[in-house]
Amino acid sequence: MSISRRRFLQSLALTGLGSVLPSTAGAVARGEELATLLDIGKCIGCGECVAACREANQHKYPNPQKPFPKMYPDRVKVADWSERQDVDDRLTPYNWLYIQYADVTWQGREYELTIPRRCLHCTNPPCANLCPWGAALKQDNGIVRINDTICLGGSKCKSVCPWHIPERQTGVGLYLQLAPSFAGNGVMYKCDRCYDRINKGEVPACITACPENVQTIGPRSEILAMAHELAEKTNGFIYGETENGGTNTLYVSPVPFEEIDKVIDKGPGRPGFQPVDNAMAPEDKLLRALIFAPAAGVAAGILHTVRALQQDDHKGDDHAKK
Ligand code: SF4
Ligand code: SF4
Ligand code: SF4
Repeated sequence: MSISRRRFLQSLALTGLGSVLPSTAGAVARGEELATLLDIGKCIGCGECVAACREANQHKYPNPQKPFPKMYPDRVKVADWSERQDVDDRLTPYNWLYIQYADVTWQGREYELTIPRRCLHCTNPPCANLCPWGAALKQDNGIVRINDTICLGGSKCKSVCPWHIPERQTGVGLYLQLAPSFAGNGVMYKCDRCYDRINKGEVPACITACPENVQTIGPRSEILAMAHELAEKTNGFIYGETENGGTNTLYVSPVPFEEIDKVIDKGPGRPGFQPVDNAMAPEDKLLRALIFAPAAGVAAGILHTVRALQQDDHKGDDHAKK
């Protein structure tokens, strides 16, 4: 989609030079991948980014039908966050960004770090490459999204994500129109990099809201160079350059990420900062193609039928809006 260079430059003027690189609009127009740099040393943990994300994206949040269909086999667990939409200390279908806390002692100094966590938008994302239905996808500009009109909530994206980022909400999405008791169990949700704002030439909400200019967005090559410059200047450490083959989210920290990983609260909805090998290394790609090609053919047939049904049932509906 075309992008307005003028709008990006207006955003630049509003948000300060630290947040948007001047080359960003041109990079988007050329289809280059965008990346963000998060300078952990600047974050004060105010949570403005979390609030801004929720405000900007709540129109995309799930609005489930209840009661939920009973699933067979019943080992498929219901995931219902609809009564807990205010939870903001972990990732949920209603909270795509949260602040992680790390008290670290490093080389005799104590650090109280606050770290914004969300999807890292991998350069070679296993969630998109291994989704059997093609619901997760990576755009030319590097944004990794889950199409909520196609996703069946099977959680493959979550299980193959090294950080287990996507979160499921039951009672919403395409599975309700297919075989609600036998297939899928809702829709998976995660940060979509405010793709709709970027498409309009605007900057992601969490970046504009930050009073400390913690995040900078721009072409990946320039963001990577900035990360190295910052790490060199501060004797800092980089996460995201090589993890999972490289991500379009680069963190720079004053302490090693191994130390952060030791002290942060990890578990469901709370990703770590562990070392991560490239899940989609070239030797794995052939295997992936062999395993998923038949499923993709079946999926295409089902989706074709379902889309025809949807057009009949919901003429003019915007399924992206709940
Ligand atoms: S708004 Fe900025 S300073 Fe505040 S928590 Fe988010 S990243 Fe940190
Ligand atoms: S961090 Fe996980 S959910 Fe995000 S793009 Fe990478 S594999 Fe996908
Ligand atoms: S980029 Fe957008 S969707 Fe992602 S965390 Fe920031 S505000 Fe939320």
